[in-house]
Amino acid sequence: MNVLLTGGTGYIGSHTSVVLTELGHLVVLYDNLSNSSDLVLHKLAQITGQPIPFVKGDVRDAELLTETLAAYRIDAVIHFAGLKAVGESVEKPADYYANNVQGTISLLQAMRSVQVKTLVFSSSATVYGEPQYLPLDESHPTSATNPYGRSKLHIEEMLNDMAASDPAWRMACLRYFNPVGAHESGLIGENPNGVPNNLMPYIAQVAAGQRAELSVFGDDYPTADGTGVRDYIHVMDLAEGHAAALAFLSVTTGWHAINLGTGKGYSVLDMVQAFENASGQQVPYKIVARRAGDVAACYADPKKASEALNWRATRTLDDMCASTWRFQQSQRLSVKS
Ligand code: NAD
Ligand code: UDP
Repeated sequence: MNVLLTGGTGYIGSHTSVVLTELGHLVVLYDNLSNSSDLVLHKLAQITGQPIPFVKGDVRDAELLTETLAAYRIDAVIHFAGLKAVGESVEKPADYYANNVQGTISLLQAMRSVQVKTLVFSSSATVYGEPQYLPLDESHPTSATNPYGRSKLHIEEMLNDMAASDPAWRMACLRYFNPVGAHESGLIGENPNGVPNNLMPYIAQVAAGQRAELSVFGDDYPTADGTGVRDYIHVMDLAEGHAAALAFLSVTTGWHAINLGTGKGYSVLDMVQAFENASGQQVPYKIVARRAGDVAACYADPKKASEALNWRATRTLDDMCASTWRFQQSQRLSVKS
């Protein structure tokens, strides 16, 4: 299958491109490089043993998208492109709606114009809002607590409307839980600009001595050790989930929302401990106030993914920490050289 990955040079897109290439798909990456670098293309070629075609472009450019879909005879699109920082979305909501919602409208128009009607969309567990029960299954009510989450919900609803309007559409909204980890080579991984917002890259930078200590946001949640619990999923498991979604859509039409998570929750302190074990480094931390908007616990019911996609996460917490550490170390070496 020929697959276009918007946002393909980013964290999840780059790992997915490895999995799809290794399965024999022709992968084309499309990205405006607003939050990634084309240096990743060399790493991908190193891992897969072949160059991966890349088009520099914005998803709001429907004309370039249409040309790209036609030129590469694309059969399916995986739509990763978008902005993803919750805090920034509160400060700059228009940017989030422009990149995420307008970008998806342009993509849908381009796809329709060349009759490409298979789409996998990067959604998020954030569409469940404050959990009313756990684990979160796909029938849990949806709601948004910030513009980032609202952009994901709008897009999901838009895709649902498109699928209802034309039975030829095949659409999967994959609701990711907390993607972490890196490809086992250590060549690609998550490389956030500036101070990491997310727990795992922050821990990795503390372990590497780049930051003094981790701030643990609250230890008075109603969880076993009082710190927040999340469903961390290895990015390579997540990448394989996309391959499974493409296979599912090749035999299924309509709109589908599917969780990609492990079903297991780990606390912040579990993560610190696991990272210390995997890296052999200390991760000093201090407890600080809760972060506004955080929920106590959030983890998936992964049953639908297992039944519909015949997919489940297999990698362990140790795999997540060890691969993150390998990537962190390789970054340090490449900065020095
Ligand atoms: P990322 O920032 O590493 O990748 C997104 C890519 O999209 C970047 O390479 C960026 O340059 C590109 N991009 C952004 N706006 C664009 C535009 N207008 N046109 C073209 N390219 C554009 O992020 P990621 O972690 O790989 O996330 C991928 C997708 O998964 C995003 O849609 C994100 O919202 C979603 N998601 C991520 C997480 C997470 O924790 N990483 C969790 C749930 C959902
Ligand atoms: N967290 C923390 N310190 C940090 C970053 C995150 O204690 O520097 C906690 C956060 O409160 C949450 C968990 O780690 O309980 C995961 O946070 P992250 O931002 O990675 O994911 P999300 O909140 O989006 O699930």
